[in-house]
Amino acid sequence: MIRALTRKLTLALALTLLALPAASHAQTMFRFPISMLGDQCGNGGCVVSAYKDYGGRDYACGGVRYSGHTGTDYALSGGFGKMDYGVWVMNAASGVIESSVDGYYDRCNYWNQSNPYAACGLYTANYMIMRHGDGSKTLYWHLKKFTQQFARNTSLSCAYWVAQVGSSGASTGPHLHFEYWVPGYGTDDPYGGACGTPFTRWTSQGAYRGLPGIACQ
Ligand SMILES: [Zn+2]
Repeated sequence: MIRALTRKLTLALALTLLALPAASHAQTMFRFPISMLGDQCGNGGCVVSAYKDYGGRDYACGGVRYSGHTGTDYALSGGFGKMDYGVWVMNAASGVIESSVDGYYDRCNYWNQSNPYAACGLYTANYMIMRHGDGSKTLYWHLKKFTQQFARNTSLSCAYWVAQVGSSGASTGPHLHFEYWVPGYGTDDPYGGACGTPFTRWTSQGAYRGLPGIACQ
């Protein structure tokens, strides 16, 4: 009886663990990863152009995604003019800059699908990857050339101006591709909703198609 119960409990625990996304106790939560000042993403300066794709739907069961998209795209409403003016990407939580790449052409308006190593190809984006206290990582993609402010291995508390939004790599216009990654699990989604994970990783997720809040954890 006890053994059967134990087995049942073990099975229940195993199923619970399988059902949960990889997450530690000290879960890192994020703020919106771009400045919300009035001349930055404030006043409608940025819009969500694509969420993570869940096989044809986004986390909220809407269609704001494209096939195979692994992160969230925040586009500059003002296009290349606004990119030239300068819009600051901010690290979404405290952490360490784990890797970064810079120096690639940053005014792409198409995706060069024939050669991933050429300008505007899949592998020629300027980017930064940050590792957080719970082991999760945030990826900041398509950055403007030579705007990164910190070297690899730099530890930062939340919300520094780390680089500017650009259009390097496979990018059709100035936007930040923000991606959330969990070790042992892979690409995840910071948004929680009916067609995605039930858990949000934002300190304040905000409305669908709106922007998350800027409070740091
Ligand atoms: Zn994207």
